[in-house]
Amino acid sequence: MNSKIAIIGAGASGLICAIVATRLGKDVTIFEQNSNIGKKLKVTGNGRCNISNENLDISNYQSGDIDMVSNILKNFDISHTKNFFNSIGLELTTDKKKFRLYPKTLQAKTVINLLQIELDRLNISVKLSSKIKTIKIKNNHFELKTSKNIIYSFDKVVIATGSKASSKLGSNSSGYILANQLKHNITDIYPSLVALKSDFKYLKQLSGIKIDAKVTLLKDGKIYQQTSGDLLFTRYGLSGLAILELSRFIKNCKNIAISIDLFENLTTNEVRDKLQKRAQKFPHKSNKELLIGFVNNKLIDTIDCLSKGNLDKMAQILKNFTIDISDTKGWSYCEVAVGGVDMKDIDEKTMQSKKIDNLYFCGEVLDVDGNCGGYNLQFAWSSGAIVGKNI
Ligand SMILES: Cc1cc2nc3c(=O)[nH]c(=O)nc-3n(C[C@H](O)[C@H](O)[C@H](O)COP(=O)(O)OP(=O)(O)OC[C@H]3O[C@@H](n4cnc5c(N)ncnc54)[C@H](O)[C@@H]3O)c2cc1C
Repeated sequence: MNSKIAIIGAGASGLICAIVATRLGKDVTIFEQNSNIGKKLKVTGNGRCNISNENLDISNYQSGDIDMVSNILKNFDISHTKNFFNSIGLELTTDKKKFRLYPKTLQAKTVINLLQIELDRLNISVKLSSKIKTIKIKNNHFELKTSKNIIYSFDKVVIATGSKASSKLGSNSSGYILANQLKHNITDIYPSLVALKSDFKYLKQLSGIKIDAKVTLLKDGKIYQQTSGDLLFTRYGLSGLAILELSRFIKNCKNIAISIDLFENLTTNEVRDKLQKRAQKFPHKSNKELLIGFVNNKLIDTIDCLSKGNLDKMAQILKNFTIDISDTKGWSYCEVAVGGVDMKDIDEKTMQSKKIDNLYFCGEVLDVDGNCGGYNLQFAWSSGAIVGKNI
């Protein structure tokens, strides 16, 4: 007789797992706490769903076992992802600059619609508004209890609950709790791909400025990580792609600062020389007025205040505009979680638990997180499909 399989979570990893397994003749039931499938998927990539990235370099990932992540991604790679989405009728397009893979429609809704049609075609049972609260092992079976105290019995279980990132979408710790009930270790978890908060007193006037800059994460005043890209000043602090990328390295915000280099291609001396040449060329202008046409207009008042109108100081600030960070925007607003179910407890070929037979894990509940750019969804597709094939 066919084993009865429960998949907990109708997100990216759970959905691909269910479809792949059912196509192979398995008997699958999905449990989803929300009233719809793919709630998080719908908001990915600003509603455009950045499915994957053609440049699937492992340097874009963090995990307690990065070699294992690399093997999982090789086992089901981007070509498999493309084939899967083609098989449900999704046309794809790649952004040539950053190699990001999207649905051609640039609508996450399209992806969800097609996944739903495939679930229906395969007659997969999806129990919506069904949150699994506990899993117990009884007589070689898994007993799943929902928050409405309904009990189900299954031969095999997949934990595809995702992480607690973006709790405003209803994400919570339940995957970690279920894994823990079944004696799995959870590594330190903290929010990642998240904006940063600051008490910097000029934020109100800087809010709304979007610049391209080299951005350095400082820890105890020392360089910790660097990147270049978009940076956005907000009323609460800093956001933008460069900040989200650096946030992956911030476990706690003690003695954390961000240094912004507004002239990446010039040294401090060269910036100072440029300012001095402007002063010679425009003797009628105040030092503050020299900044007009040199930097973003909305930055001028702040730079003038901080430098007290001194040209040397201005050059230093333009190269090293430092803002102390008080906190991250936290679980409500982050895109992913660093940490999760310890990879040591998982067999990379099947994604089966090494501790409990017939228990599988996939997606972000695991101790794997990726950079912005489609890397997190690719891990969800890869790990979910591997479970689907092997369960
Ligand atoms: C705003 C935002 C934008 C993002 N954009 C991108 C992007 O463009 N590209 C990219 O690669 N990644 C992106 N990500 C990350 C990506 O969405 C996740 O890494 C991915 O969805 C993880 O898939 P998953 O299946 O592990 O978890 P999820 O997609 O979160 O699915 C887990 C599902 O399990 C359900 N669930 C949880 N616990 C239970 C329970 N106890 N019982 C029943 N159901 C349960 C949840 O409701 C959820 O539907 C983004 C994330 C956010 C928040």
